[in-house]
Amino acid sequence: MFDALAERLEDAWKKLRGQDKITENNIQDALTEVRRALLAADVNLQVVKNFIADVEKAALGAEVISGVNPGQQFIKIVYDELVKVMGESNVPLATTATAPTVILMAGLQGTGKTTATAKLALYLRKQKRSCLMVATDIYRPAAIDQLITLGQQIEVPVFELGSEANPVDIARQGVEKAKELGVDTVLIDTAGRLQIDESMMVELARIKEAVKPDDTLLVVDAMTGQEAANLTRTFHEQIGITGAILTKMDGDTRGGAALSVRQISGQPIKFIGVGEKVEALQPFYPDRMASRILNMGDILSLVEKAQEEIDIADVEKMQSKILEAKFDFNDFLKQMRLMKNMGSLGGLLKMIPGLNKLSSTDIEKGEKELKRTEAMINSMTVEERKNPDLLAKSPSRRRRIAKGSGHAESEVSKLVTNFTRMRSMMQQMGQGGMPAMPGMGGG
Ligand code: GDP
Repeated sequence: MFDALAERLEDAWKKLRGQDKITENNIQDALTEVRRALLAADVNLQVVKNFIADVEKAALGAEVISGVNPGQQFIKIVYDELVKVMGESNVPLATTATAPTVILMAGLQGTGKTTATAKLALYLRKQKRSCLMVATDIYRPAAIDQLITLGQQIEVPVFELGSEANPVDIARQGVEKAKELGVDTVLIDTAGRLQIDESMMVELARIKEAVKPDDTLLVVDAMTGQEAANLTRTFHEQIGITGAILTKMDGDTRGGAALSVRQISGQPIKFIGVGEKVEALQPFYPDRMASRILNMGDILSLVEKAQEEIDIADVEKMQSKILEAKFDFNDFLKQMRLMKNMGSLGGLLKMIPGLNKLSSTDIEKGEKELKRTEAMINSMTVEERKNPDLLAKSPSRRRRIAKGSGHAESEVSKLVTNFTRMRSMMQQMGQGGMPAMPGMGGG
């Protein structure tokens, strides 16, 4: 995917070589590619149209910089514009001089509202801020229990009055309780419906009126794609939101909803949910989201990352391990992850002169191979990773790993053989000897 978009942009942009200005005429192909990429990332159609108009404005008149890959230059323009639209930097939660800060959670049912309430509470608790969660969803009986269970799990108190009480009263009394307890943030979970309906909006508006929240956060499921725009519009017009949380970003979605929410409401995404666990919450960063929406690690940041990730001490440790033949599967996994952290293999190879001509099939093959290897190592026990010889000796261990990782036994055997061979080769090189070339026969 990464390659496909980058290549298409580059093709579209190549036509600009030799021209020194970006004009309305010569930019159209490239804009079409951006449009496709955004739609594929689930950005709402209208939002895409507005965005493309912005990009065109930003690009027009820009000098085509000689010596710079024109595709990358254009990508940079698009990227910068995306970051700009999404608000440049992270916007934190509201804080108030007098406690408690009141945060109201709004959204449709199933978006992850209750989970997000607990995630936020845990996030705040880790920053040494005390919280109270308030359960006002009286319609879905399990909702109150769900919040109580989450509360116990993260050790944050929950205020509730059962399912007979009025949600507005529960919210109001919840805030009173927070004052009484002296906590500094109160998080109010509210009822959602499967679809927007009038009574839900009226009730939310009343709760809002009663507790005067400092932050009203719309919880949006990133998987809803195009719909995120309408949802945001309705909630913002009828309730008035001050921010949003985009959940389920751990899924396949590229997160185009982020752009829609921001452009329609003008309000910032403050957090993203990246999993079902209560810890799975991250502050939202426009630059990271822009990379994700364009489906390409920013080329510049890839270089920076590469510098960051390779810790000299780590490298030295690895070297001495190699010399002592202590290099094991854990080290191997670490190296593989290091590579992955730095972006896709394809992205990395492209930065290496001479290797940037590898076909995308070659790169894909390589990436697949890495994934398979990782799956097999993941199926090994701690002991086996530390001591690869265990595997060389035991067919039953290899069989178990094959089963666990969903690979053929022969593949596991091959991995172990290659690993052992590589290790002894490295060791010989370390000792200054000439390695016997494996697979060459003779010798
Ligand atoms: P609510 O009806 O809006 O309160 O939604 P819930 O908090 O009950 O969440 C609905 C479902 O989505 C649950 O199964 C959650 O575990 C799941 N969920 C919530 N947030 C995330 C997330 O960020 N990632 C994933 N994968 N699942 C999530």
